Amino acid sequence: MNCAVLVVGAGRGTRHGGEIPKQYQSIGGTPVFRRSLLTFLEHPQINTVIAVIAAEDAPLFAIASEELNVRTVFGGASRTASVHEGLKALGNEAPDIVLIHDAARPLVSPALISRLIDATTSVCGSAPGLAPADALKRLEGDEIAGDDVKRTGLVQVQTPQGFAFQPLFDAYENLGANAAFADDLAVARASGIECTIIAGEPDNFKITRPGDIERAERVLGANNSPVCITASGFDVHQIIPGDQMMLCGVPIKGDLALKGHSDADAALHALTDALLGTIGAGDIGDHFPPSDPQWKNVDSSVFLKKAKELLEERGGKIIHVDLTIICERPKIKPHREAMRARLGELLGLNLLRVSVKATTTEGLGFTGRGEGLAVMANATVQLPA
Ligand code: MG
Repeated sequence: MNCAVLVVGAGRGTRHGGEIPKQYQSIGGTPVFRRSLLTFLEHPQINTVIAVIAAEDAPLFAIASEELNVRTVFGGASRTASVHEGLKALGNEAPDIVLIHDAARPLVSPALISRLIDATTSVCGSAPGLAPADALKRLEGDEIAGDDVKRTGLVQVQTPQGFAFQPLFDAYENLGANAAFADDLAVARASGIECTIIAGEPDNFKITRPGDIERAERVLGANNSPVCITASGFDVHQIIPGDQMMLCGVPIKGDLALKGHSDADAALHALTDALLGTIGAGDIGDHFPPSDPQWKNVDSSVFLKKAKELLEERGGKIIHVDLTIICERPKIKPHREAMRARLGELLGLNLLRVSVKATTTEGLGFTGRGEGLAVMANATVQLPA
């Protein structure tokens, strides 16, 4: 079964306040629109994701959708017209099911999407709904008028709303030019499509009023504990005659040196790559090209500190690092505690969280012949979910 979703964020509403439309404001550092898109992009039953945006918001959307695999369609003058544009973009591929979701509902859960898809395969149209929890009154001006409105049988309807694609597409194609409906369920029902309501979720609220962004942040803070990520790094430098080599930021005096453009500290290079790996930020060569003369003979702690900074910019924290130095000479053991201390100092880590190990390759290979020294590093970090 082929399932597509339109995430509709073409409105420019300012009810919520703020200088930019609510769908581009950020929740815990991530734009509302991006959170909505990610939930669908990561859902195993969704094949295609299309974002419907206002043409004038294209620069904001480019930032919000950076590196995401979504198609973009420009919306129309009303929500109804915007959804129609999105459906037309899907016209050629005619998916079995289309879901339509408000970009401003960033907390939709994967479970709700699955239940909606299930419901839509048995009935033509479905949407999540919640019974109102509060007593309902009618106002005339500021005055309460008449009897209480009975809650029985009333439902507040959310998105995503799901439909068999073709009947909904036909319903939109047959609308008058200026038709404006509150939601897609209304369009579907007006054209006689059978629709049903499934249980909605209180957290799937629409960012509408002042304070809703903070409410969404509270929900996310309560639901999302940080994640631990481990990544590895590896580096090799040639061993040449000399009087000192740098390893883990510690000078080792003797008759050997490491050849390289910087100070050739293979341990700090491997560890820098491991840290960059935890945030998918490329490798040391991307950030410090060896062709750039400013890195000649530089202290490699500069590279490590930069990787730590990049991690911290993403809200990350180093939990543990572990290095294995592979060489026949020099002997590492006499320097191991100094290396751990220096790494702990550079990374702001307790010594218990810093491990340095050494091994040989039993005389085999380039390390065995003493031509080069290799270092493997692992870094474990904590990142916001
Ligand atoms: Mg290197």
